Amino acid sequence: MNLPTDSVASMQPAPNWLNRFRDLGKSFYTALPAELVPDPHWVAASDDCAALLGLPSGWATRPDLNALEVFSGNRIWLGMQPLATVYSGHQFGVWAGQLGDGRALWLGELDTPAGPMELQLKGAGRTPYSRMGDGRAVLRSSIREFLGSEAMHALGIPTTRALCVTGSALPVRRETIETAAVVTRVAPSFVRFGHFEHFAHQAVFERDGHDDLRRLADFVIAQHYPACRDDANPYAALLAAVSLRTAELMADWQAVGFCHGVMNTDNMSVLGLTIDYGPFGFLDQFDPGHICNHSDHQGRYAWARQPNVAFWNLHALAQALLPLIEDSDLALAALEPYKAVFADMLLARWSAKLGLRTREDGDRDLVDDLLRLMAADRCDFTITFRRLASFSTAAAADNAAARDLFIDRPAFDAWAARYAARLARESSTDAGDDHARALRMNRVNPKFVLRNHLAEGAIRAAQGGEFGETQRLLKVLQRPFDEQDASASTAYAGFPPEWARSIEVSCSS
Ligand code: AMP
Ligand code: MG
Repeated sequence: MNLPTDSVASMQPAPNWLNRFRDLGKSFYTALPAELVPDPHWVAASDDCAALLGLPSGWATRPDLNALEVFSGNRIWLGMQPLATVYSGHQFGVWAGQLGDGRALWLGELDTPAGPMELQLKGAGRTPYSRMGDGRAVLRSSIREFLGSEAMHALGIPTTRALCVTGSALPVRRETIETAAVVTRVAPSFVRFGHFEHFAHQAVFERDGHDDLRRLADFVIAQHYPACRDDANPYAALLAAVSLRTAELMADWQAVGFCHGVMNTDNMSVLGLTIDYGPFGFLDQFDPGHICNHSDHQGRYAWARQPNVAFWNLHALAQALLPLIEDSDLALAALEPYKAVFADMLLARWSAKLGLRTREDGDRDLVDDLLRLMAADRCDFTITFRRLASFSTAAAADNAAARDLFIDRPAFDAWAARYAARLARESSTDAGDDHARALRMNRVNPKFVLRNHLAEGAIRAAQGGEFGETQRLLKVLQRPFDEQDASASTAYAGFPPEWARSIEVSCSS
């Protein structure tokens, strides 16, 4: 559907609109407008993300900005040149061929104080890459992506951001008939491993060899990894840099109990951002084998497997970059540090979660043994670490707050004695030390995470036309490490209810 002639809304306040992705050339995208939606309405917005973009206060309702129409795909700001990009990828370990933005529309970049930020509408209608899909996203999954992105950012984890969600009465068929929504995503780049895989694969059929692949790599290096240009082999340097960011992301995910659910190579960001929130989740009861995606029958993307899957995906990226690197030993060498770097970063995070300030040889065992106990007793991941902040090293302390979470109390007591001894060795044992440690731990062990049942509560309210709950939950998730008030604690920091276990999230979105 074409945009109406009055479709261009005012450009204010975005005089610095960029469309650099278009410079890559036509083989990288199809330019097209969004499909219109009837009578859009606001669902939610993140002022924090708006501030990142430098949008003025009141941006959502300012008549000159037409933000509701722009962020539902019905209008564009002057300068926006929407397009859908093409990529390929491996899905569940199998080459899936061409995919692409089947329901995402790239709007261009806003030059912000934090650097250029790309804006993308997700659910804006069909594109040439929609395959059998309808190009839409339902309200349920859009709220999950919106809250998930902003919550991860507040946890300090690299992620695409979400500016807002708009909704409409447009019916969308999934298992039942639902309604359409559009999420506006924000990131310095939406380039995925799959973009590289696509152009490496295309080269087999193209006369110009690896020109497109090289153009893409040079583009990503120039914009996001400029230091790689100075390397003897910039493409190997790029691979190494992406590996490091990915290792860091995996350490972040594991330490907070985040499960992505669909770690296909087309859902891996070259900037090491969490991207494409589908059937993601945060661990409730700790089970390393937890599979958050109902459609992942083999458990390929189970929580404990994520770091290895990321490494597998990095090999797929290496394979794609090989024609540019021109030396397979160099490519493997670029990936080599991943495992050690990841292990080191993860241990640093676990140590911080235990409030440790120094490193000792036995720390890995201390952590592993705690995780083993938590797994055996299915302790709540978030609550256990948060409660450990109140751990007292006083001889008489029973540390009931944490101890009561375990079924096997003698096993916890034995571990607690080792933990207390470990703290004593770094002289962190008087009441003042305990207090300082608690403060440290509370800055890395969140009290509030987006558990499935919390998202579900916001979704059900929104499906009934009440959007206040989404906004309330957002506010709480934007301060995950703060104690917050009693009503927030009761509503959002408790154990998940029994029914939370029956929530099924799948690729249907
Ligand atoms: P995912 O693994 O969910 O990120 O999606 C895999 C591919 O399917 C991507 O290329 C998406 O753009 C595409 N896709 C997913 N849902 C739809 C939809 N409803 N309509 C069109 N394309 C879709
Ligand atoms: Mg995807």
